[in-house]
Amino acid sequence: MTPGALDLQAIRRDLHRIPEPGFQEFETQRYILNVLARLPASRIEVKTWRTGVLVRIKGTAPRRVVGYRADMDGLPVEEATGLAFRSVRPGYMHACGHDVHMTVALGVVEHFVHHPVRDDLVVVFQPAEEGPGGARPMRDSPEFSRWKPDWMVALHVAPEYPVGAVALREGTLFAGTSELFIDLIGQGGHAAFPHRAKDMAVAAAHLLVQLQTVVARNLNPLDAGVVTIGRMEAGTKQNIIAERARLEGTIRALSTESLSQMKERIEALVRGIEEGFSCRATIDYGANYQQVYNTPDLTREFMDWAAREGGVKVIPCEPAMTGEDFGYFLETIPGFMFWLGVDSPEGLHSAGMNPDERAIDIAVSLLTRYFTWKIERDAAV
Ligand SMILES: [Zn+2]
Ligand SMILES: [Zn+2]
Repeated sequence: MTPGALDLQAIRRDLHRIPEPGFQEFETQRYILNVLARLPASRIEVKTWRTGVLVRIKGTAPRRVVGYRADMDGLPVEEATGLAFRSVRPGYMHACGHDVHMTVALGVVEHFVHHPVRDDLVVVFQPAEEGPGGARPMRDSPEFSRWKPDWMVALHVAPEYPVGAVALREGTLFAGTSELFIDLIGQGGHAAFPHRAKDMAVAAAHLLVQLQTVVARNLNPLDAGVVTIGRMEAGTKQNIIAERARLEGTIRALSTESLSQMKERIEALVRGIEEGFSCRATIDYGANYQQVYNTPDLTREFMDWAAREGGVKVIPCEPAMTGEDFGYFLETIPGFMFWLGVDSPEGLHSAGMNPDERAIDIAVSLLTRYFTWKIERDAAV
């Protein structure tokens, strides 16, 4: 252990105590900057972007820039783990493991500060993964663009996999997702005079049923997609015809093409509702997430190396219908994301999410050895 080495378990617990919403990660940002300030300043350069942090670790003879990303935000979940270091913010929790992600990233920074490699390494702490979406604006910021990596890696904790395992696949790992909000505006009126009103409760009911055909009757059955309306509301009172209705949901697909095809079909059905029920409608797609597409050759190379020398079990996995905004980085930069097994009794976004902290050292060791191997290998060819 290097003298004055970072205590990663303590860091993770400190971060776990202070979950913050997207773009409000002020205390988290301050904490990360304080930890970085304890490392030798001669080897690193630190910048901020909104509530995010970018760190560049100078290489010894840089030819390329390697990127690593961790997300920073917590979730509006009331923590029920009973842990001594549980959240001090009522109604907020690091229920998606982003505290672990940041800790691993700090461990990676610390390692390369003390064990420099040939290439530069850029580690980004990205705000607002859970919403409204920090990856895209961060990727497009001048701060990031000036340090743009040639290739890039990220991980996400996986409660369902054991500690010591990683899971990934070439190609699509996570779906493209979009929120969906549809407002219908008709004409209210007395319940006894439907002929003088435009009833949006009935229109919304028809639309809800029609939306179930978007995937079933349009996508190739061997492709995959989901349309879920999780909330619906209409009207104000039992004896008044509903002037307005609102449907709230999410759409997901494993390819960008399928997602845009689904949006086209939704728009056509909504136009039909406007015509058929003499109403006005608006569609708002809210927050969008680009699919996470793992660059096949890089991913395959990592999987082979990790199985051989990584000291972890490598599990080839299926794509998931969850969204992750790391997809925006992978849209313009080759790279991949993988699941890190943390063996939690409860899943992501649940109040009992409790990752096994032993996974932190495993991830730091895996990533630092992989980056070192890959950089040396690429320099040799
Ligand atoms: Zn999440
Ligand atoms: Zn997450």
